[in-house]
Amino acid sequence: MNIILLGPPGAGKGTQAKQIQEFYKLPHISTGDILRENINNNTSLGLKAKSYMSRGELVPDELLITIIKDRLSKKDCEKGFMLDGYPRTIPQADALQMILTESGEIVDAVVNISVDDEELIKRLSGRRMCKCGTSYHVMFNPPEKEDICNTCNGKLYQRDDDRSEAIRNRLNVYKKQTQPLINYYDSKKILRTIDGSKEIPQIFEDIKKVLDEYDQ
Ligand code: AMP
Repeated sequence: MNIILLGPPGAGKGTQAKQIQEFYKLPHISTGDILRENINNNTSLGLKAKSYMSRGELVPDELLITIIKDRLSKKDCEKGFMLDGYPRTIPQADALQMILTESGEIVDAVVNISVDDEELIKRLSGRRMCKCGTSYHVMFNPPEKEDICNTCNGKLYQRDDDRSEAIRNRLNVYKKQTQPLINYYDSKKILRTIDGSKEIPQIFEDIKKVLDEYDQ
């Protein structure tokens, strides 16, 4: 099963992706995580991506297309994959289709997690991350000890792009560049929209109802 998680920043794609990965044994491919790892390791890709990311802008398509082509060629993607944060533009979606066509594959389903702007701003501005990948929210999902990860005891931090100026930019960028993908995939009859304003376990149940149709 090859699936895409679509939705604005803060919709809960990363949170749901962790559960989907575990339940369906699909590799979770987050382009945001790949880029952040490159920044942390000071690679040339990381250096190129850093300024775009901290402003909340998209990293150029050609870099992302190279990343995704390389990642999808890895052995763990042979039985399927889950993309989180890719594609974010129509050219990226077209490139994905070309990559998959070359290996005789398709995207089975696009799960679009929908949440309104007011809720997204609340979620993103209170989000705190740990380097182990766990995310928290200062009000809705606080850690047991302030600013300390429950899982690994790491110190929590706020992503640069979760600060208010960058949040506004990311939401505008989403509307202009990523939202057109909703019609793109709807016209291919593979778009399934989920209400992302519900509680986390309920959203996962709703996603399972969709994915169980494709999982064999
Ligand atoms: P995310 O972790 O998915 O919220 O991504 C964080 C940031 O990484 C985005 O705001 C972009 O700057 C960059 N990024 C991640 N995925 C992509 C993509 N598919 N295309 C362009 N930029 C991306």
